[in-house]
Formats: sequence, structure tokens, C-alpha cells
Amino acid sequence: MNISDFNLVGRMDQIDGVLYLGAIEATEDPEELTKADIATILSVISDEMEAKDRIGGIRYHWIQADDSPREDLLTHSPEAYDIIDKCVVSGIGILVHSWQRRKTYEEIHALVQCRRPIIWPNHGFVAQLGLWEGMGFRLDANNKEFRHHMREMHSLHTFPVKKLDQYFPRLEMAESTTRPLNLGKQYVCKKCGEELFHELHVLRNSGGNTGDTCGRVFIEPQPWMSELLSYEKQSIDYYKDLKIRCLQCGQVVAKYRTEYYAVQCQCSDHSNINEIRIQMLDNTFSLKSN
Ligand SMILES: [Zn+2]
Ligand SMILES: [Zn+2]
Repeated sequence: MNISDFNLVGRMDQIDGVLYLGAIEATEDPEELTKADIATILSVISDEMEAKDRIGGIRYHWIQADDSPREDLLTHSPEAYDIIDKCVVSGIGILVHSWQRRKTYEEIHALVQCRRPIIWPNHGFVAQLGLWEGMGFRLDANNKEFRHHMREMHSLHTFPVKKLDQYFPRLEMAESTTRPLNLGKQYVCKKCGEELFHELHVLRNSGGNTGDTCGRVFIEPQPWMSELLSYEKQSIDYYKDLKIRCLQCGQVVAKYRTEYYAVQCQCSDHSNINEIRIQMLDNTFSLKSN
């Protein structure tokens, strides 16, 4: 796609038919909006537009997102694209700011670089678009890179664990729309049989298992650990080798470390993983037998 394919209408770029992309100023100009026949505005910004700033006859949608490389935009993508697609299909003019339609990374990059650098929020957004495209323009909770993205965006590797309350619901939403979700083998508490984690949650380099693995098992945070991990009032020492107990029987099954006490491991399973914090303890879990 060439840059000349985009028509500039005032402070908006006509991306495709009824779809416009613009800076926030474009949302404040009734004349421009009328000229472009805009009937819907989708804002992907941190604060909702105040009622007094809204223009009659226009339908407003708002997705809350900060302009930060650490903002998880990916899990908002299905909702955003749903709104956009409905307008495009029905021929309703829609203006989006701080968001992009389903364009390939190169197309968007070309557009933004040449035409409106101001709307390009940050490098984190670029990476997320690449991942979004890689997943086929949908959320794929089986995708290891996506799961890594979720942990990264929700700062699960930093101290204290700040965004667990957003992490679990958003991941669950992505998992509920992933069909089929390939959880893999299930592991349970060896003592009482309580479910602990699945194969999908194990942190491991793909293509590991070359023989020099350390044999340790590190996993993603599990919803049943959330209370323990999100306890922010504690000192950093609280998290040093924090014991994680089976909710059912109380047996210590794992330990959690802060990044300060992170595990460094060069084995083929873990050499590039810099977020191994939750380590399952030997002989506390076993494969679920049916
Ligand atoms: Zn290892
Ligand atoms: Zn147990």
C-alpha cells in the first residue's frame, strides 16, 4: 500500500472507506466530522470523553488504555475491532484515535511514519501489533508469546506484583475465546489431588530437552495464588522464597521469588527465560491420573 492511498481530511486520515484515524483534536471539530460523515467515535485513551465535549448525533465508544509501552492493548483488540467491523460492514463513518484497523504491521508503520507520527503511541504498541498480526488478528491463549506478553504487560516480574487483578481476568477472557484451548497435561497436588497447573503454564524454551535440562519446573502465576502474590504491604523479604501452599491441604508446593532473587538458569529449558519466579517443589505434584 502506498502512502498516497490515504486521503487526508483535516486532522483525520481516511484509512479505508468509512474508517478514519485521527488525533484527539479531530474528535472536537463538528464540521470536520460532518464532512467525513462520522457517526461513531472510538477512543482508545486513558480518560473517557466528558459528556459536555460530546457532539450530538455521534455514538461514542471508549476503551480505557494508557499511552504506555506497558499498557496491554492486545486484550482490548477484539472489542475494538468488533466495533470497527460493525461500522465498516454497515457503512457507518467511524473515527478511531489511538488505534488501528486490521492492517499489517508494515502498512500501519508506513502510514504512521509518513503521515501522522503523533498517533503512534509507543514502541510497546508496535510490538503488540506484530503479535496481533502473528496470531491471525485474534487472541490466541495457546500462543506462548502472547502469554509472555500478558505477564510482561502486567508487570508480574516486578516487585511487588501490581497488576494481578487485571492479569487474571484478561487472560481468562483470552482463554475463553481460544478454541480449542490446549491446556495439555494436568498436574495435581501429590498429597490431596487438588489441581495445581497444566502443561500450558510451564515456562520452558520451545525446542529445549536436549539433555542438559536442570529438571526444575517453573510455572506462570495461577489464579489460586493471587491472594498470596498480590499482598503488597509486605517488605521485599516477604517475597524471598515465599512459600506457596496447596489451597486444599496446606502442603507447600512451590516457592516464589522476586526479580531481586530471580533464578538464573542456563539449561536448555530456561536459558532465555528471565521471569522464572514460581518454582514447583520436587515431589509435591504429580500428573493427574484419570
Ligand atoms: Zn533450568
Ligand atoms: Zn494438596
